[in-house]
Amino acid sequence: MRLLAISSGSLIVLGVGVAIAYVAVLAIAVAFNVVRDARRRSHSWIFAIFAFLLAFLPPFLGAIIYMVIRPPRPLDEERAMAAEAQILAAPPVVEKGGRPCPTCGRDIEEDFVMCPYCRTQFARRCTACEHTLRLGWPVCPFCGAEVGGRSLPQPTARAVSPPQIR
Ligand SMILES: [Zn+2]
Ligand SMILES: [Zn+2]
Repeated sequence: MRLLAISSGSLIVLGVGVAIAYVAVLAIAVAFNVVRDARRRSHSWIFAIFAFLLAFLPPFLGAIIYMVIRPPRPLDEERAMAAEAQILAAPPVVEKGGRPCPTCGRDIEEDFVMCPYCRTQFARRCTACEHTLRLGWPVCPFCGAEVGGRSLPQPTARAVSPPQIR
């Protein structure tokens, strides 16, 4: 009778010991996970130590609190998002516009036929298709219309050379 009482008492002690060990191992595993997660989400060691202490303070409640207060995204994800945002924020490369006037140097657009500031004419429009043409072109390369070589004083060397065959 007495033997049985001792053995059942030690069984309880053993059971409680196992339960404590189980909870302790679980708490350590949770704390380990919390610290690893904190390291992934922050460069700050202070934050990692704080997370570690929090994970132990009230055994599992701390881990839940940590889940609430932790930075929302891991650092590598944060970096990827920052890079993406940077690409999206960068202004698109403007192909058109923004060349300087050859005479006064002010910014004019690509399809202007004359400078609005100094009135220098450096191109004209095709009478048929409205494309911008260089002043020396006698024919429109876009629609083939004859536009005449009226506006540029042609160099004499080019005047005597035979018409170019393409
Ligand atoms: Zn100009
Ligand atoms: Zn044309």
